Amino acid sequence: SIVVTGATGQLGRLVVEALLADPAVPASSVAAVVRDGKKAADLAERGVELRIADYDRPETLAGAFRAGDRVLLVSGSEVGRRVPQHAAVIDAAKAAGVAQLAYTGVLGGPEADFDLAAEHKETEALILASGLPYTFLRNGWYSENYTAHLGAVLAHGAVVANAGEGRIATAPRADFAAAAAAVLTGPAGEHTGRAYELSGDEAWSLAEYAAEVAARSGREVAYRNVPAAAHREILTGAGVPDSFAAVLVDVDEAIGRGSLALRTGDLARLIGRPTTPIGVTIGEALAAAE
Ligand code: NDP
Repeated sequence: SIVVTGATGQLGRLVVEALLADPAVPASSVAAVVRDGKKAADLAERGVELRIADYDRPETLAGAFRAGDRVLLVSGSEVGRRVPQHAAVIDAAKAAGVAQLAYTGVLGGPEADFDLAAEHKETEALILASGLPYTFLRNGWYSENYTAHLGAVLAHGAVVANAGEGRIATAPRADFAAAAAAVLTGPAGEHTGRAYELSGDEAWSLAEYAAEVAARSGREVAYRNVPAAAHREILTGAGVPDSFAAVLVDVDEAIGRGSLALRTGDLARLIGRPTTPIGVTIGEALAAAE
C-alpha cells in the first residue's frame, strides 16, 4: 500500500487527494494512518483503508505498516514532542519492513539554522540510522503560513514581522502534497536515498507581500518590520503561547538571514510544473474571505 500518516491534517489530506486523483492508484491501495477514525470517515467511504494509530502510543503503531508499504511520515504538529513521536513511527516502519519511508522535514535539512529545524534534523538522523530506504522531503515555508492571517493583516493594514528584507521561497501546501504523492508513486527506487530541497520557484520579501496584498485587495497594507522582542510581545498579546512566539520570532530572524529563500527547482521538477506563485494564493484567500 501507499501509506500516509497525518492523513486528517491539512497537508496529509492533500496528499491523499493527490493520490486518489492519480488514475494509476486505486483507492484500495491507499492507507491513511490517523489517530481519530471519525475524522477520516469520508476517506474510508471513498475506499481508503484506515489504520488507527497515535504517534504517542507506540503499541498502536504496530498495525500501521506492512512489508513493502511505501510510507509518508508527515511530521507531527506538537513542537517539542516530535523526536520520540517520530522515533516510534520509524521503529514501527522498520519492524514492518516498509519499502520506502518518505519524511516531511524542513528546507536546508542539516544546514537549517533555526530552532524549529532541530527536531527535523534529529528525525532525519534516526531515519538514516534505521537503514530504511528513505526520501527526505525538506519542505520550505507554506504560502498559507502568511495567507491564513490575511484577515488580521487587512484589519491592521500591516504585515508585522522581524524578518527584515529576507526573502521566502514559499509554495502552497497543495504543491508540497503533489511532490509527496510523486515520490510515493514513481518507479520503486527512483526516489529512495534522496533528499529534495522543496521550495517555491520565486522568493519574495514581506514588503513585496504587503504590496501584493494591497494591490489585490484595494486596501492599504504596509510591512512593519519590528525588533524581535517587540514582535514576540505582539504575538503573545494576540494569544500565541510564549514558547511558540519565541519559535516564530526565531524563524523570522532566520528568514532575515535568507535561510528560507533557498531555490533549487526540486519542487517544480517533482510536480512537473511551475510552483504556484504567492499572488495566486493571496487571491484565493481573499476570494474565500469574501
Ligand atoms: P496539521 O496540524 O494540519 O496536521 C498535523 C497532522 O499530524 C494531523 O493529521 C494530526 O492528526 C497529526 N498528528 C499530530 N500528532 C499526532 C499524533 N500524536 N499521532 C498521530 N497523528 C498526529 O499540519 P499541516 O498538515 O499543515 O502540516 C504538516 C506538518 O508540517 C506539521 O505537522 C508540521 O510538522 C509541519 N509544518 C510545516 C510548515 C511549513 O511551513 N513547512 C508549517 C507548519 C507545520 P489530527 O488530524 O488527528 O490532529
